[in-house]
Amino acid sequence: MTGAVVAIADIEEAARRIAGHVRRTPLERSAALSELCGVPVHLKLEHWQETGAFKLRGATNAVLSLSGEERERGVVAASTGNHGRALAHAAKTAGARCVVCLSNLVPQNKKDAITALGAELRVVGKSQDDAQVEVDRLVLEEGMMPLPPFDHPHIIAGQGTIGLEIVEDLPEVRTVLVPLSGGGLIAGIAAAVKARSPKTRIVGISMTRGAAMQASLVAGHPIEVEELPTLADSLGGGIGLANRLTFAMVRDLVDEVVLLSEAEIAAGIRHAYFQEREIVEGGAAVGIAALLAGRIEIRGPTVAVLSGRNIAMDLHARIVAGANGLEGSA
Ligand SMILES: *Cc1c(COP(=O)(O)O)cnc(C)c1O
Repeated sequence: MTGAVVAIADIEEAARRIAGHVRRTPLERSAALSELCGVPVHLKLEHWQETGAFKLRGATNAVLSLSGEERERGVVAASTGNHGRALAHAAKTAGARCVVCLSNLVPQNKKDAITALGAELRVVGKSQDDAQVEVDRLVLEEGMMPLPPFDHPHIIAGQGTIGLEIVEDLPEVRTVLVPLSGGGLIAGIAAAVKARSPKTRIVGISMTRGAAMQASLVAGHPIEVEELPTLADSLGGGIGLANRLTFAMVRDLVDEVVLLSEAEIAAGIRHAYFQEREIVEGGAAVGIAALLAGRIEIRGPTVAVLSGRNIAMDLHARIVAGANGLEGSA
């Protein structure tokens, strides 16, 4: 890979590498949203990916890109969420050792989910930062390979394979709506879609509560924002003050960023359930939510990426029953 930017050739290579290891997810027309918007609206059903989220694409591409010697050393990350699950699954597929570092505050069900996927757990300290210190130690002292959730060329290229599939299945697509947190997903999709279909708009969508990428774009460089509880928990967290790739790619390739309230995200989860019959997590409902809220300028065929389904089902039940936020959550 040359330079700091992930190119279309890297994404095509990723597609060949991960074929047979991850699902090629369907692109389904939504009758309800097409009617509402007056243009064809399609949903990329990436929440049907194994492990329940798109992160398996990047993790699989990154693990399969390691040399035999690097694979021997094993991979390590500090995520308990969708990236941790994806990395554990990808490492198992490749026969690599995987260590997931987490803090004492992580609930037992999340620990069980990761060990069930064959990864080793290191429980240290009281915060995500403490867990990251242990990752750094394992890299430095034991030579393990760190695979971060978004700011890595093979991770971005893997997520970008979603963009290739969207343009293959709907060449006339004019707007793609993508959930945005650290930016690995949207950077990869934008690189793929803009290479194949330069006029197609890429819109990133985050929650108002703690939108680190949007705040960084406004500031002109990566900044930290306060992390707040949100229905879109998988969109929380920072972009890293030492961000190498995703900040510049998002700045250069993404046309617009839209921020949504908790009530708007809840309405997206409900629409997915009642109209589309799909169970999605908050972070995956934002594309639908932005359309419902009238926040997207409609310009021809539109795709919303549904990025994951790993929501606590008791929370999902409360939202479906009408709750408009996390209130009442344990
Ligand atoms: C990680 C994640 C995102 C955001 O992806 P980034 O690459 O961090 O922007 C969106 N949706 C789900 C379900 C995720 O797990």
